[in-house]
Amino acid sequence: MFQSDHEKNAGYLLEKIEEADAVLVGAAAGMSAACGYNFFYQNDSYFRKYLGEFHKKYGYVGAFNGFYYRYPSREERWAFLARMCYMEYECETGRPYYDLMELLEGKTYHIMTTNQDFQFTRVVPEEKLSAIQGDSRYFQCSRRCHDEIFYNRDMVYGMNAAIDLDLKIPTEMIPRCPQCGAELEPWVRGYTFLEGAKYKDEYRKIWRFLQQHSSEKILFLELGVGQMTPMFIKEPFWNLTYQLPQAFYITINPKDALLPDEIADKGMAIREDIAKALEDAVKMAEAKKVCRTSEGGKDNGEFV
Ligand SMILES: [Zn+2]
Repeated sequence: MFQSDHEKNAGYLLEKIEEADAVLVGAAAGMSAACGYNFFYQNDSYFRKYLGEFHKKYGYVGAFNGFYYRYPSREERWAFLARMCYMEYECETGRPYYDLMELLEGKTYHIMTTNQDFQFTRVVPEEKLSAIQGDSRYFQCSRRCHDEIFYNRDMVYGMNAAIDLDLKIPTEMIPRCPQCGAELEPWVRGYTFLEGAKYKDEYRKIWRFLQQHSSEKILFLELGVGQMTPMFIKEPFWNLTYQLPQAFYITINPKDALLPDEIADKGMAIREDIAKALEDAVKMAEAKKVCRTSEGGKDNGEFV
């Protein structure tokens, strides 16, 4: 039967997931882009819906630039932060997350992500998830005076509702550290990022998973990791694939899918849209399931 490259890739992905004893997924910005969320770097429809007024007032493009913008006042900066976090809480979970979880159903897996938008937390239990660059659901003390992070949903919704026509929040609503009184900050990678107990725990979960499964057939599945920060997922995945005898590496990325020569026979680079690749692999898995069921039926004599 004729198969396009596209189908071959999906089939290969599915086969490697099925074969693996354990799967370590590493997901980055490309996974959000695959869900149609480009608000971090562009003025996409979500940016326009939630942050359009901020663009009008300040002129920046994408939430990333909004995050690093020098606001005239604390009240204006916090209005932006509140609205950005609110947008992340309100965004629907992207289809690729559900497809990935369907592919991993019944498998031993762990997921690590540099994404701070906490979409994975909607589909993966926390013990199987490591957010290694922070998580926008939490605030920390900006002075790192103590090792606690604060779940922020109520604060975010409260501040967002209080944003006035000048795009400011009332001064008294700016969240402050209960210990030292300094302002809080989103718990995401930045100059003041708190690498405390929660951060260490995210890595502990990864090390434990690797310890338990490094001698088995382990698949490193990289989704949407670009060239900007390869040290968090891409390079460790390459090194581990090289070192571990039964490891295999798959990277899916429409632009930056690279396979180093050193692991050329232990890996595959799929240069495709992540959403499409996952969706096709799911369809293929479902078709296989149907086949197996009807074959099983015949064995039992049900369809004879
Ligand atoms: Zn403090």
